[in-house]
Amino acid sequence: MAGQVQSTSLQGFCDASVNAYAAVVYLKIETADETYLKFVTSKTRVAPLVEQTIPRLELLSALILARLISHIQSVLEEVIPISHVRCWSDSEVALYWIRGENREWKQFVQNRVCEIRSLVPPDAWSHCSSKDNPADIASRGTSPAILAESTWVSGPDWSKSYKGAMQISEETAKVKQAPVESLQEAKKEHHELASNLPCSSLLTGSSSLAVSAVIDWKRFSRLHRLLTVTALVLRFTRKLKPKGREPRLIPVDITADDILEVEELWIRDIQVELTSSAKFKNWEREFGVFSDPSGILRCGGRLGNADLSESQKHPALLDANHHVTSLIVRACHERVHHNGVKETLTELRSRFWIVRGRQAVKKLLHECTICSVYKGSPTVHLAVPSLPSFRITKEQPFTFTGVDFAGPLYIKENGEMRKTYVSVYTCAVSRAVHLDTVPDLTAEAFIRNFR
Ligand SMILES: [Zn+2]
Repeated sequence: MAGQVQSTSLQGFCDASVNAYAAVVYLKIETADETYLKFVTSKTRVAPLVEQTIPRLELLSALILARLISHIQSVLEEVIPISHVRCWSDSEVALYWIRGENREWKQFVQNRVCEIRSLVPPDAWSHCSSKDNPADIASRGTSPAILAESTWVSGPDWSKSYKGAMQISEETAKVKQAPVESLQEAKKEHHELASNLPCSSLLTGSSSLAVSAVIDWKRFSRLHRLLTVTALVLRFTRKLKPKGREPRLIPVDITADDILEVEELWIRDIQVELTSSAKFKNWEREFGVFSDPSGILRCGGRLGNADLSESQKHPALLDANHHVTSLIVRACHERVHHNGVKETLTELRSRFWIVRGRQAVKKLLHECTICSVYKGSPTVHLAVPSLPSFRITKEQPFTFTGVDFAGPLYIKENGEMRKTYVSVYTCAVSRAVHLDTVPDLTAEAFIRNFR
């Protein structure tokens, strides 16, 4: 080895296949003239009997590499100074787990990621392509002839020239975006929270606030209570002292404005799911959906010039299947004092539009316990009143007569079709009936017939 040694570092590589996973460590020595790469050690393990996904196996290979390289580092440091350690993996998913520090993963991944991070700092991990990875040979197995020609002992040549910080930052950017497979291992509720909103957006009152991530709406059965609780939560977060600022003084009582504000939050929240619906494009065309200044989706309609309030002219579009929508419908139903579908729908449409709203309202009204109690009670029979005197007085038939017309009937006269009507005279006492034909419906024709 010629020249003064400038730095010594450890370069580790890991890889996994369905059969095995492996790690290999090289010592990189940089002198003024040249860079040397020396094989130090390697470790190979067969894949667990319980079948694991490839990203999990890649993570296991990263774990044995982290253990191996930190052990070698502690041993070698007694003899030579190690300037730094760099670990390489060709799995973007495993790298994302290792570097996604603010995320919480499922137990399997979380436990291993924690150990890896405790042994090797997350920013010491980089991505390399599969064909440049010497650990690939150990994880897949190979013949002695191919092994002799491979870079297994000498180490990959590209690693010798690899040093630029820029190159590393490029690699870092590559794994910053979460690969889809990596999110499958994210803890569900944590993942939703993390992706939808950090609680700080509640504090800032950001318009992209996903209020459903903070409040478990499924537990509410009344709209009023949901809105009040949301308003209280919002009030609390605003009361918290922001960093470096004085706490704000906010009155305790919830006002109507607070309720309107949180109602808007919820409407926006419902509409997030609506826009991802496959039918949304059709609705946009059908209802002329547009977004108002506060970001609420409203229906266009044809009442733009009418003398009505804005919410009546352009009702907010709601998702019929959302729980909060059902709470809104129920509140409307209560406002019309448990009247029927038509009345509830009219009340609802004064502010909201639900696609296939009648159906949704019908379904919810069917579930209303108060309505079912009223409908379920036995019918009250009214007392039958006495008959009027003219019905029961002994008189000549047709003294008290009722009259009505029936028809028209069609009759043939001189080969021509003609309309005719039937006059029906009924006696109020004897219930006798007299029928006669009348040519038309004029008063003259009736009087002639009556005589
Ligand atoms: Zn009801």
